[in-house]
Amino acid sequence: MQAHIEEVFNSIQGEGTHAGTRQVFVRFQQCQLHCQYCDTPRSRQVTYSCRIEKIPATGDFHTVKNPVSRDYLIETIQKLWSPSTRHISLTGGEPLIQADFIRELNAEHPLYLETNSGFPDEARKLKDVIAVASCDIKLPEHDSTRHYDDLLKNELETIAIFNESAETFVKIVVLPETTKGSLSSAVNGIASIDRNIPLILQPVTSDRRIHAGKLFELMDFAGEKLKDVRVIPQTHKMMGLL
Ligand code: SF4
Repeated sequence: MQAHIEEVFNSIQGEGTHAGTRQVFVRFQQCQLHCQYCDTPRSRQVTYSCRIEKIPATGDFHTVKNPVSRDYLIETIQKLWSPSTRHISLTGGEPLIQADFIRELNAEHPLYLETNSGFPDEARKLKDVIAVASCDIKLPEHDSTRHYDDLLKNELETIAIFNESAETFVKIVVLPETTKGSLSSAVNGIASIDRNIPLILQPVTSDRRIHAGKLFELMDFAGEKLKDVRVIPQTHKMMGLL
């Protein structure tokens, strides 16, 4: 099998409950959404080239043709592995669009999935091969889709699927305009699946500063329903990493 991939590199996971963990990142192309804060807009399109880091964590890349074969990707991951590396991060774009390829990867290292959670049928195909699932829930103000209710329903179904078999947490990007009201459907939805699922509130990385008081207020609001609520910003951006 083959897949359209944007880039493969070794770096430090900067988001969520595994922030600080070394990973080989496989960034897939294509995404069905258009979030206003998207920091990887190039990966939303299919292109005919993919960039591959030559030596782990050097930022020195060469280009190969898309689509990339399963065997070539596995060989690349092995070359980019390092002693402190712990997971293969499947990110995007939206990796679940290429779930059949991921299912056939059969990699010897644990798979860490970063998904917008929009494809529960594809998630079902992968539930027994994913070790860690980082599942986004989008908010109405993210402007990710014109069909928000459908997206939220799919996101919650995806989270429930992964929560049965993988270490699962939810990540929600907080914008300056986010309110308790815009967060409530997401929080209630997570609580209806499992109150123990960690919720990471991630302040958007931008010039638009979010007041600390807002974060405390949103944490306490979510904490009334969920047992593990944390605020974690994008730490890789602070370090100037990919
Ligand atoms: S889901 Fe991710 S890749 Fe897709 S538009 Fe939103 S931020 Fe960008």
